[in-house]
Amino acid sequence: MKILGLLGGMSWESTQPYYARINQQVQARLGGGASAELLLWSANFAEIEALQHADAWDALGEKLGTAARGLAAAGAEHLVLCTNTMHCLADAITAASGLPLLHIAEPTGQALRARGVRRVGLLGTRFTMEQPFYRAYLEDRFGLEVLTPDAAVRTGVHEIIYQELVRGVLREDSRGVLADAVAALAAEGAEAVILGCTELGLLLKDGDGAVPLLDTTQLHADAAAALALDDDQLRGE
Ligand code: GLU
Repeated sequence: MKILGLLGGMSWESTQPYYARINQQVQARLGGGASAELLLWSANFAEIEALQHADAWDALGEKLGTAARGLAAAGAEHLVLCTNTMHCLADAITAASGLPLLHIAEPTGQALRARGVRRVGLLGTRFTMEQPFYRAYLEDRFGLEVLTPDAAVRTGVHEIIYQELVRGVLREDSRGVLADAVAALAAEGAEAVILGCTELGLLLKDGDGAVPLLDTTQLHADAAAALALDDDQLRGE
């Protein structure tokens, strides 16, 4: 089994399901008392969100690069960055650690391709919806057309993530805001919507909307387990 190095705690609310799901997949595949051999670095998210909102991306790159180097020194063979947003620093993290990284948009793009989706909606933090890194990955590697909500809705979704979900607060009215955002993207022609923030699946589930919802936490965790096991079947190939 390959030793995974998880960069987590962004937030810990979504790292918990990663940890559970990777272990469940490995146990299901290998049976008995099998579980994943992995290393976890878990951030103090208060520091991370303060740097993000100060646009201190270089400092964040150094912080995560240092953490990734630590995982490499401890024996990790492949990195799993348990957040969509921080993939804006994927190149800095791989350069700092010398380790390959399983990009979160890769299994997401593959799942969309398998469903024949060409036009997809994207919900996430403002960083993920507004910076080019995530959209470009899906456009360039999978030929997808990526739709995002209007500015007011982007701000609303961002606030729900940072003020509620990363703190474990789940509110019905916020679920309604997210459901409305999904409906608006579907009305614009999105054939599916990416839950492109690892906490969004805490509030919305596939089946809650008029179009399929792709939970990046689940897709990424499944791909991580497949990678650890070198298991194409689990990867859906
Ligand atoms: N977990 C979130 C994401 O997937 C947001 C928290 C963060 O900024 O890392 O983007």
